[in-house]
Amino acid sequence: MTALAAHYTPEHQMFRETCRRFLEKEVTPFHMKWEEEGIVPRELWRKAGAQGLLGMSMPEEYGGAGGDFLYSAILIEEQGRAIASGPAFSLHNDIVVPYLLHYGTEEQKKKWIPKACSGELVTAIAMTEPGTGSDLQSVKTNAVMDGNHWVLNGSKTFISNGQLADLVIVVAKTDPKLGAKGTSLIAVETTSHGFKRGRNLEKIGMKAQDTSELFFDNVRVPADHLLGGPGMGFVQLMQQLPQERLVIAIQAIAAIEAALELTLAYVKERKAFGKLIIDFQNTRFKLAEIKTKARVARTFVDDCVARHLKGELDVPTAAMAKYWTTDLQCEVVDQCLQFFGGYGYMWEYPIARLYADSRVQKIYGGTNEIMKELIGRTL
Ligand SMILES: Cc1cc2nc3c(=O)[nH]c(=O)nc-3n(C[C@H](O)[C@H](O)[C@H](O)COP(=O)(O)OP(=O)(O)OC[C@H]3O[C@@H](n4cnc5c(N)ncnc54)[C@H](O)[C@@H]3O)c2cc1C
Repeated sequence: MTALAAHYTPEHQMFRETCRRFLEKEVTPFHMKWEEEGIVPRELWRKAGAQGLLGMSMPEEYGGAGGDFLYSAILIEEQGRAIASGPAFSLHNDIVVPYLLHYGTEEQKKKWIPKACSGELVTAIAMTEPGTGSDLQSVKTNAVMDGNHWVLNGSKTFISNGQLADLVIVVAKTDPKLGAKGTSLIAVETTSHGFKRGRNLEKIGMKAQDTSELFFDNVRVPADHLLGGPGMGFVQLMQQLPQERLVIAIQAIAAIEAALELTLAYVKERKAFGKLIIDFQNTRFKLAEIKTKARVARTFVDDCVARHLKGELDVPTAAMAKYWTTDLQCEVVDQCLQFFGGYGYMWEYPIARLYADSRVQKIYGGTNEIMKELIGRTL
């Protein structure tokens, strides 16, 4: 019995089946084509919205389903199981849209959240810049008040959903003298004059997910697009980042479980020296280790999700989950790929895509070194 058993309802189970069916029908058959194109079609977002896969935890008054975070965890797990890293639904549902809910004005929530739930509006968050990622206090993008507008200048890079996004939450300096206390979050509609998307960046994995540079050249946004007051950006990021890190940990355990399942199926069918690969003691020992580590990781992640459902997931625990499970993901996926021999290196084999997709997990959402800094501060 896991820490989450008590939280599951028949509705959660039904939602899992909806996600599974949606991915089987609308995503898996097309994923390789989208990997070549470097992006998923816009229409997929509307289909996902129509099936209730967007905004599950947003209040009903803003077009959401009023559900708990477990619905998000289920969608992430099902995408992991399907090895469907293209659609960045979780980034939108669990990372960006919550900023609008928590810090937007009533008018903004009514304007943006229903469209985010229907898939008409795709969102992104832009923290990282060419010159700075881990050290967010050093962002150079700035916003200056001019009349009743903020005027933004600067550039961002590595922004997920960068090509698709209609609304980007931008981390900008509103008072460069104040460092962290001069940092704010500003919602920018991508139709704004002076906003430009750069190229869709070519990555070694997550190939169906678009990742872009963004440029802001005297972009004017209404004063109330600054979320929750000037200088509050850092505090807001600190409040919301534990959920982002938990999302990455759930992706990690889902990838670990998917890798184990794929590998078990393969070693029970492939032969060498007249024996099945599973019949070598090395295979059983390695897979026994992986199965044990997967169980330990699952127990820890479920405990983190249970804490989060109670509003008790703290920053260092989320950092532990992010760093430890993503390190394990890379280790396990690499070991699993080995059992596929040369086939494991072929793109058409899902284990190869899992391998390529895994590497970034140790980098984004705060690098694993930064996670250790956060944990280290509690020692
Ligand atoms: C596919 C992908 C998607 C992404 N999506 C987004 C997105 O949607 N939005 C967004 O804002 N960003 C996004 N990022 C950016 C990502 O969050 C950053 O790349 C990450 O935070 C690291 O920043 P950096 O690349 O500038 O590395 P740097 O900060 O330059 O770090 C370089 C190395 O130095 C280490 N280092 C830095 N500081 C310390 C320290 N204090 N102690 C020890 N080691 C340290 C780092 O751990 C790393 O190993 C994405 C990145 C990728 C690859």
